[in-house]
Amino acid sequence: MSTAQALIKLRDSLEPSDRMPVVFLGHGSPMNAVEDTEFSRAWSDLGRALPRPKAILVVSAHWMTNGTTLVDVSATPRTIHDFYGFPQALYTQTYPAPGDPGLAREVVTLLASHHAEEDDRWGLDHGAWAVLKFLYPGADVPVFQISIDMTKGLDWHLGTGGILAELRDRGVLILGSGNVVHNLRAMRPGGQPQDFALEFDRLFADRLTDRNFSALADSDALGSLLRMAHPTVDHYLPALTIAGASDDGDALSFMTDAIDLGSVSMRSFVFHNE
Ligand code: ZN
Repeated sequence: MSTAQALIKLRDSLEPSDRMPVVFLGHGSPMNAVEDTEFSRAWSDLGRALPRPKAILVVSAHWMTNGTTLVDVSATPRTIHDFYGFPQALYTQTYPAPGDPGLAREVVTLLASHHAEEDDRWGLDHGAWAVLKFLYPGADVPVFQISIDMTKGLDWHLGTGGILAELRDRGVLILGSGNVVHNLRAMRPGGQPQDFALEFDRLFADRLTDRNFSALADSDALGSLLRMAHPTVDHYLPALTIAGASDDGDALSFMTDAIDLGSVSMRSFVFHNE
């Protein structure tokens, strides 16, 4: 299914509801933030299709912590330009959405078992703002990030989604931002997709469709294919958290399933009410 078809199907299936969808977006190159690409256009279309949330909780690949899950409780999260060697236009981008300190502190309590702590220094990294500026260009929906604990296994991050899922009933959009395949050492700009990238992307889509999330969190069984797709798993973990925030009653829609740069899957997906 093309991106446009998937979005039309999604738009038609979404009814006004208090239970928010959960969304995973493959963000890929920071250049998508300042260029008109098939991906940035799809993010704009998705923003128009989604119910308007009361707040957005973002799990980004770019906020990594060790031994704790930090939750940004700042009232005015800063825009972080966490990349190097890109055109100046990227460094002048800002996304001045307010935070949601009250809700963020509730999330610290909710994630007590995940060693959650308050943070007021992070803000919004490019995994968050580079997609949010297309989803909600007015920057008028409160947003805050939580970090990913890199000392924990894949199961843990799947479980994070299960804990956060109750926020869906309170009008909160849980947004994961990473990539289903992310191997920068194997990039082929302008070239054909790498075989391992196609294979892992297909496997991921099939297991997600089957709701076999435990297979996606089984690093031993995924073995060398996982290590090729993700030399480090930071861009994978947010996808697991979003899968974990879904429930059996959700429908699943895919969008933007291209392999970009040879080894970066731009596959994105939404779990939502039928
Ligand atoms: Zn990234």
